[in-house]
Amino acid sequence: MKLSDDIERVLISAEELEQINGELAQQLSNDYKDKNPIFVCVLKGAVLFLTDLVRKMDSPVEIEFMDVSSYGDGMESSGDVKILKDLDVSVAGRDVVFIEDIVDTGQTLKYLIELFKTRKAKSVKICTLLDKKENRVANINSDYVGTTVPNEFVVGYGLDFAEKYRNLPYIGVLKPEVYEN
Ligand code: 5GP
Repeated sequence: MKLSDDIERVLISAEELEQINGELAQQLSNDYKDKNPIFVCVLKGAVLFLTDLVRKMDSPVEIEFMDVSSYGDGMESSGDVKILKDLDVSVAGRDVVFIEDIVDTGQTLKYLIELFKTRKAKSVKICTLLDKKENRVANINSDYVGTTVPNEFVVGYGLDFAEKYRNLPYIGVLKPEVYEN
């Protein structure tokens, strides 16, 4: 089967993603040039974004991974955040940047930011590729935003539906029949 056959329309093309990443990388390189920050990538959706982003940066960054669950295989955020994989290093006294694929209700990040404050991180910022502002429940704002998206379920470039479509090179909207079945 071809993944692209399930896509109703492309929201952000591969070329646009490349440009967005370049702009974010430049801002981050400027802001963190002497800070050696820890970029905390939230698995698995943000992996493609992280790897493209850091390759465009010319300042030192450390990379760590965390796995949390708030969605399961469905399409609705539960607000109930569970840590499936924690960091391997201490964040005490460090500048942390959360690298996210998409901020939707914001509940996942709100939970993580509170947690990192108790762990005494020096600063905690958010860099998200996509911001679905309309759906926000938690009171959080991203410090670095690639672009905003409408309140639709998107896939591709790391984002999945039931673990599929992560390897599409662009961000798209699924045909309704794909998730109605
Ligand atoms: P939040 O806690 O902000 O509601 O949820 C954030 C997480 O929900 C994201 O990291 C992502 O895994 C998932 N998510 C939110 N909206 C979408 C979407 O439109 N498509 C996909 N594939 N995942 C989404």
